[in-house]
Amino acid sequence: MAEFSLELNEDQLQIQKWVHDFADSVIRPAAHEWDEREETPWPIIEEAAKIGLYSFEFVANCFADPTGLLLPIVNEEMAWGDAGIALAIFGSTLGVAGIFANGTPEQVVEWAPQCFGTPDDIKLAAFAVSEPDAGSDVSSLRTRALYDEAKDEWVLNGTKTWITNGGIADLHVVVASADPTLGSRGQASFVVPPGTPGIAQGQKFKKMGIRASHTAEVVLTDCRVPGRCLLGGKDKLDERMARAREGQRAKVQAAMATFEASRPTVAAQAVGIARAAYEYALEYAKARRQFGRAIIENQAIAFKLVDMKTRVDASRLLVHRAAWMGRTGKTFEAGEGSMSKLYAGETAVWVTEQAIQILGGYGYVREYPVERWHRDSKIYTIFEGTSEIQRLVIARAISGVHIQ
Ligand SMILES: Cc1cc2nc3c(=O)[nH]c(=O)nc-3n(C[C@H](O)[C@H](O)[C@H](O)COP(=O)(O)OP(=O)(O)OC[C@H]3O[C@@H](n4cnc5c(N)ncnc54)[C@H](O)[C@@H]3O)c2cc1C
Repeated sequence: MAEFSLELNEDQLQIQKWVHDFADSVIRPAAHEWDEREETPWPIIEEAAKIGLYSFEFVANCFADPTGLLLPIVNEEMAWGDAGIALAIFGSTLGVAGIFANGTPEQVVEWAPQCFGTPDDIKLAAFAVSEPDAGSDVSSLRTRALYDEAKDEWVLNGTKTWITNGGIADLHVVVASADPTLGSRGQASFVVPPGTPGIAQGQKFKKMGIRASHTAEVVLTDCRVPGRCLLGGKDKLDERMARAREGQRAKVQAAMATFEASRPTVAAQAVGIARAAYEYALEYAKARRQFGRAIIENQAIAFKLVDMKTRVDASRLLVHRAAWMGRTGKTFEAGEGSMSKLYAGETAVWVTEQAIQILGGYGYVREYPVERWHRDSKIYTIFEGTSEIQRLVIARAISGVHIQ
């Protein structure tokens, strides 16, 4: 039996340090500027591509880590630098995750590298599920996929909203319904390859946080993609829809499969923000003097820091457990992936608020990073499944009852 250890291995430690150095020297110094500009930080993505951090090879290496921990480790470090820039750099991995989750090995080989391009010709990818009337309820997507048998093409029509890299991505993975009467079981993921006519960016959203990450509507108007762009293939979709029509239970739902795989990774970003805020507040509390002593000498402040550190570490342990379970094929019996996202997201919001409190007035102004971390943290209770939806998943998993 393998020896049990919670220590990271040599490879993981080395990559963690490499990513941390990049986050420290390149991402963090640029964070304020790109938050204010609310634009995609192309120069930073270029830097990341130059050193191989923004590349299919690196992401594939992370996905391949047999412990499953590398992806969250890397995401924590990046978001420690800045969550908005981290998402601008790693938003493409959402598209890749969609391809990995639903594509055949041939489709992975064809499409996943195109999500990143090369350092000289950088590409972006997006994963588009959410719609104006279908956020948490992904079973009610209206975007339609109609099959044109004569041309072996799928025709996509609909509007996606809140899409990270939406419209500026070269490659979009779009979840659409081939048969709306079947709910999630009539849905499938389609690759919309670079340069495809009929896909366009709609409104770009101005946001509270993660403002270096581009979020926009994606409008699909008679967008035609070749038959091979249906991830998993038509036979599999036909079989699934036939089973659904016969009333049999579904094995996999296209969007849910992707979210399950990506939740601990997204949760790790929340851990990164929370850790950044905790570390900053700790140093500040040691340096800031009031009433003739450092404010950390007051239990009120020291105990706050204790709770912050404890929750950050607990979040990370939940994230690593879920990532390890996912990679090693363990059965999620209590919604462990959702648990990690729920706890890490709410911890990030709570810890960053405590950090503002510890910095007092300095915590509230933009010259200091803490208010930005608080704004950035809030999205982690909303996207990739809101906290309420995570609770629903966990409640159903632990009880076996279909709680509404
Ligand atoms: C910055 C940003 C980036 C995003 N990036 C992407 C992306 O790249 N791709 C993508 O597809 N989507 C993306 N999203 C969309 C995101 O996943 C959705 O916003 C999220 O799933 C919630 O959907 P909604 O906003 O429609 O809220 P709603 O589903 O309308 O929920 C509103 C409120 O009702 C609650 N609620 C809903 N149903 C229930 C229920 N059954 N029980 C209890 N409470 C419930 C929710 O928890 C929430 O509090 C992004 C969103 C944002 C803001």
